[in-house]
Amino acid sequence: DRVLSGQATEAEQQFELSLRPQRLAQYIGQDKVKDNLKIFIEAAKLRQESLDHVLLYGPPGLGKTTLAVVIANEMTVNVKMTSGPAIERPGDLAAILSSLEAGDVLFIDEIHRLPRAIEEVLYSAMEDFCLDIVVGKGPEARSIRLDLPPFTLVGATTRAGALSAPLRDRFGVLARLEYYDEEALAQIVIRSGELFGVELNEQAAYEIARRSRGTPRIANRLLKRVRDYAQVLANGIVSEQLAQQALELLQVDPRGLDHIDHKLMQSMIERFGGGPVGLDALAASIGEERITIEDVYEPYLLQIGFIQRTPRGRIATMICYDHFGYPPAQKE
Ligand code: ADP
Repeated sequence: DRVLSGQATEAEQQFELSLRPQRLAQYIGQDKVKDNLKIFIEAAKLRQESLDHVLLYGPPGLGKTTLAVVIANEMTVNVKMTSGPAIERPGDLAAILSSLEAGDVLFIDEIHRLPRAIEEVLYSAMEDFCLDIVVGKGPEARSIRLDLPPFTLVGATTRAGALSAPLRDRFGVLARLEYYDEEALAQIVIRSGELFGVELNEQAAYEIARRSRGTPRIANRLLKRVRDYAQVLANGIVSEQLAQQALELLQVDPRGLDHIDHKLMQSMIERFGGGPVGLDALAASIGEERITIEDVYEPYLLQIGFIQRTPRGRIATMICYDHFGYPPAQKE
């Protein structure tokens, strides 16, 4: 398991529940998204209507699921959680939708992975709060219409581009979650430290924040690992120096990069002269799938300006050469 993965492991899910902010005021960062949501939530409450459907998109671990729960709490309604791949038949969707109460939030994670046939059933549910489903087979088949209570669909996806246009168009609110800056992450680490009962100063929180790839899930995971080191080596007290040591041992470098990032950048610089290099060639050179590079490794490297996309392929930037200790690229 990659310590810097944005995905939660199964064992981690329980631990994450205990750290989840419950209200907008506790949800750190993402100010633009929060400011907009606040207004939409307030307006829906004033009109006593359900909130418009919301699509949350962005890399894993940035707080999409958390925000869905926060939205339900702010609207004082219940939230039901499911995911695209878990809904296999139209009947599954009908069962979930008909169990909702007026105003409830239905959260569908990985909504880009909904089977096509289900997606089509969802259209009328989102638009008119009704379900047209076919029961029976062959000549016996008939279509029945079910009225639904008004509800709010909150969809989450890491790949907004993979969503079909008709589905995307049915969301009234599209919110893109961004990588968190150091300060927001440090605040998250401090908050989690308090919940955990970890003694940690501000510098230590920043040290963890800097290495968390802009991602709260990773920040919380690193904090948990650092706490283990502190318990064994320093009576549970996390100083900046201890955080540094622990993170070095975890092989997370000061920019939040690990051996996989190193391998990728090394290949780009040593084999391809720093690029431009196409994704396929790059993927083949390190024995990974193209999509893994695109979805998992590259977004953070792009974010911190180590890689740039050009029409002719990816290039490694000066900052990247410098970070890995290569002399500046000799370009003709
Ligand atoms: P996603 O659904 O985008 O993969 P999650 O909502 O599961 O991400 O968030 C992962 C963890 O990160 C949560 O358990 C939560 O504790 C923490 N987290 C996410 N966003 C925030 C935030 N804005 N403030 C504080 N903690 C957060």
